[in-house]
Amino acid sequence: MVDLRTQYDCIKSEVDHAIQQVLSSTAFINGPDVKQFAEELAHYTGANHVIPCANGTDALQIAMMALDFEPGAEVIVPAFTYVATVEVISLLGLRPRFVDVLSDTFELDPESLEKVVNPKVVGIVPVHLFGQCSNMEFILNFAQKYDLKVIEDTAQAIGAVYTFSDGRKSQAGTMGAVGTTSFFPSKNLGCYGDGGAMFTNDSELAEKLRIIANHGQRKKYYHESIGVNSRLDTLQAAILRIKLKHLDKYSASRNEVADRYDQAFLDHPNIKTPKRAANSTHVFHQYTVQVEGYAREELKNYLQEKGVPTMVYYPVPLHLQQAYVQYGNQEGDFPVAESLCKKVLSLPIHTEMEKDQQDYIIETIKSFFRQ
Ligand SMILES: *Cc1c(COP(=O)(O)O)cnc(C)c1O
Repeated sequence: MVDLRTQYDCIKSEVDHAIQQVLSSTAFINGPDVKQFAEELAHYTGANHVIPCANGTDALQIAMMALDFEPGAEVIVPAFTYVATVEVISLLGLRPRFVDVLSDTFELDPESLEKVVNPKVVGIVPVHLFGQCSNMEFILNFAQKYDLKVIEDTAQAIGAVYTFSDGRKSQAGTMGAVGTTSFFPSKNLGCYGDGGAMFTNDSELAEKLRIIANHGQRKKYYHESIGVNSRLDTLQAAILRIKLKHLDKYSASRNEVADRYDQAFLDHPNIKTPKRAANSTHVFHQYTVQVEGYAREELKNYLQEKGVPTMVYYPVPLHLQQAYVQYGNQEGDFPVAESLCKKVLSLPIHTEMEKDQQDYIIETIKSFFRQ
């Protein structure tokens, strides 16, 4: 699915040197690379503040704590996403209000917001799933109308650019009150362990995020709020500083792979290629097709036998997961999310994919349907 080894080989001397420097300095916690990486990422994304933390799940949790979401309040979240988005809502004693997604872009369905909004709702978490932005213009206007905070889950879409109708451009994660991201190794900007960050343009909120991520202290041993311990390792920051320099090139490679898949399955009767949202660029964290005609599992097994790995992101929508049925949703409540879970298949996509590798994948998929 991803080839982190070849990518590492391409930047090995730079990375090894950076790691060696951290080892020699022994500044493993909050070393200078952490601050430098945060500044470089702020410069790259255009966010006023970047606050590093331990992982993308913590980033979501700290964001909700800093926005003072109180237990019992409700947060709107798509039913088709990675579990982390919903997990932190539940952990903080909040209630997830699930909404459906769009069948072509996989993003939160803007029309569904009006159906679930109620006085208890305090926030919306759009997830920029698979690498392109949700309809942020609509979501931000809706949030303003109902006085809701927007937290953008940007774990899969770092570097994607959204264009507003007035022509203004913003990067994923920099439009809502807080944006969150993950540096898990397989993410588009991945380190060699766990890592995450939060983005905000609000200086006061940035300070609050920083304090919560550091045990609720501004000054060591003086705790003004209840916090958590969530840090980005210096080693990971040093690696990320190098990988950030290559991020645009990586996104371009992913787009080339996606374009070739698009072409290959243009008129294929059984493979529906992912639609690109009109107002967002795509960084293709995943290239996810929909397999029509209930053949997904057979296709997946067939590809596995022929040496082509694929993944199902995600097999079960969150409202039907055992841990989250307690919120009272049932089968049929979010038909698009439920149907996608039966059809989606993510194909291998990575930054070092060779054309002949991809040709083999495409030909093997086509041969399955010719059987
Ligand atoms: C990966 C991911 C996260 C969580 O990131 P971690 O660093 O693994 O905690 C959250 N949301 C989405 C959509 C993700 O893909």
